[in-house]
Amino acid sequence: MEGLSVVVEDLASLVRILVGFFLARLHDCASVAPFVFQHFAMCRRPLLPAGYDVSAHRTYSERERGSKSLSSPLGPPACDKDSKALLFIEEMTRKADAVQERVLGEILLRNAKTEYLRRFQLNGATDRDTFKSKIPVVSYEDLLPDIQRIANGDRSSIFSAHPISEFLTSSATSAGESKLMPTIHEELDRRQLLYSLLMPVMNLYVSGLDKGKGLYFLFVKAETKTPGGLLARPVLTSYYKSEHFKTRPYDPYNVYTSPNEAILCADSFQSMYTQMLCGLLMREEVLRVGAVFASGLLRAIRFLQLHWQQLAHDISAGALNPKITDPALRDCMSKIIVKPNPELSKFITQECSGENWEGIITRIWPNTKYLDVIVTGAMAQYIPTLEYYGGGLPLSCTMYASSECYFGLNLKPMSNPSEVSYTIMPNMCYCEFLPHEPDAPAVSRDSPPPLVDLADVEVGKQYELIITTYAGLCRYRVGDILQVTDFYNSAPQFRFIRRKNVLLSIDSDKTDEAELQKAGDNASALLQEFNTSVVEYTSYADAKSIPGHYVIYWELLVKEPANPPTHEVLNLCCLAMEESLNSVYRQIRVADNSIGPLEIRVVKNGTFEELMDYAISRGASINQYKVPRVCVLMLIMSAL
Ligand code: AMP
Repeated sequence: MEGLSVVVEDLASLVRILVGFFLARLHDCASVAPFVFQHFAMCRRPLLPAGYDVSAHRTYSERERGSKSLSSPLGPPACDKDSKALLFIEEMTRKADAVQERVLGEILLRNAKTEYLRRFQLNGATDRDTFKSKIPVVSYEDLLPDIQRIANGDRSSIFSAHPISEFLTSSATSAGESKLMPTIHEELDRRQLLYSLLMPVMNLYVSGLDKGKGLYFLFVKAETKTPGGLLARPVLTSYYKSEHFKTRPYDPYNVYTSPNEAILCADSFQSMYTQMLCGLLMREEVLRVGAVFASGLLRAIRFLQLHWQQLAHDISAGALNPKITDPALRDCMSKIIVKPNPELSKFITQECSGENWEGIITRIWPNTKYLDVIVTGAMAQYIPTLEYYGGGLPLSCTMYASSECYFGLNLKPMSNPSEVSYTIMPNMCYCEFLPHEPDAPAVSRDSPPPLVDLADVEVGKQYELIITTYAGLCRYRVGDILQVTDFYNSAPQFRFIRRKNVLLSIDSDKTDEAELQKAGDNASALLQEFNTSVVEYTSYADAKSIPGHYVIYWELLVKEPANPPTHEVLNLCCLAMEESLNSVYRQIRVADNSIGPLEIRVVKNGTFEELMDYAISRGASINQYKVPRVCVLMLIMSAL
């Protein structure tokens, strides 16, 4: 890994970042305000006609075996299959509390004999009150000893009566390592069920999506085995490699340009190259362009910037780049790149060779109706860049999910990113909500705080999400802070506010303050030979470059001005910081190349004092002032 440092920055540049962000937020608020009422009003409308008897329909799969197409007040479902999916959403959201009670009962019944539930003397009870009075609220660290037993090969029923099929590696970390989430095979059905609801909802807002294809950049990542032999891999890798995905039935509304062989190729260059090539070859057919997160789509644009010449060459020659060596992929691509297309090659060269990449997505894929990427939460930082490359195409955030469980979907997928709310589907897991008050005392296992049920949350309030899953997590703190914006039927809708304790994030990395502090300590040790120390620091996730990168601002105390730290040693500090950051950061930085080199900027002496003066002039308390460890947070604080 190679680092980069730029020496000497001043307060002005720090404040510029802060003020720029602040103004952008003000601008957002001003432009969004008139639509808020409209959004809430529309959400209250059911997807199905009032009075329709949903209780006649038991489960989605039962209905799928044969029922009539039903119209929806928001517009007729695009097809029979869609009407069934919309019915399912209707049924689940109308009876949110009853569904939650059923889900908890099912989980507790099937897992009654597990070691975990027995440990807390649940004695086979399946009701909410007993569950809440006996089972503690926990975080990952509380479960770690049990998780390690499973990882080491203990196959007894610790959390779940169903065998643990694999571990899902969360991008959140514990002690610098990726969290390992035990899962069961059946969870794949639940994930697939949630995916199956996305297009029926989208079809209510965008018509004709069956007339073309989706260019989605989807990837698998490296997998490992635990000492006990269980696979450990990211949830999407697990899903794409499953039969659920690989042998999915043909659905005209969900046809991808990328063949499975390209998505499943473990080599990220070969996978990206062939997915991009297919997207270019089928450019006229592409109706939507997407990736899971915004950072993934920007990575694809960057890839095109770097490799368009070779791609154009392949298209003009009708032959595949020899760097694509995966036999299954070569074989499959030989059926897609069948003959030379000099005209298309010329077009790509014309579009990509210029300096101006504004609106490149709409130029290359002129029929694109929207960009399908998550731009809520940490990904909001990429909105301006996506708007630039996307030529103002709508950005659609469709779902909210995690390794622990998939939670819900956006019932208004074409809404402005700042208005996006996710409706948690009550059938996915049992959810409880810890009211989030920033100054509240820490939650202890012995005095569990009063948690609120899904149907009882209040509009406007913020909560931390706590889940109990079929895979055996009980009252587990996910770490996400959500705010209730409204209800759809009796199911609340949530705006994603933030993930707790995350200071910096560029891709799926999540770096907290303790990790940043430790990395800084390790790096600053290199300054000792120059009799220099770091007196203050703050940080910033720079999302303007692709890939984005971490920027650390250091104020140094150089005790021997004649012998200041050299540029080389500061570069080594960058490297030391990167090597000290968590495993997810290092993986993304080195293997995926989705994070650029960390940058340390040394600011002039006195900058942090000026920053404090600035904060105090804006109303911060002089007694309580602490240097914010991330610039953006400071901005938000000053904006409040
Ligand atoms: P992981 O455990 O690595 O799968 O990451 C899951 C986390 O990603 C969630 O707990 C959220 O913090 C974040 N996340 C997932 N979906 C969204 C979304 N739609 N908007 C904002 N953040 C999200």
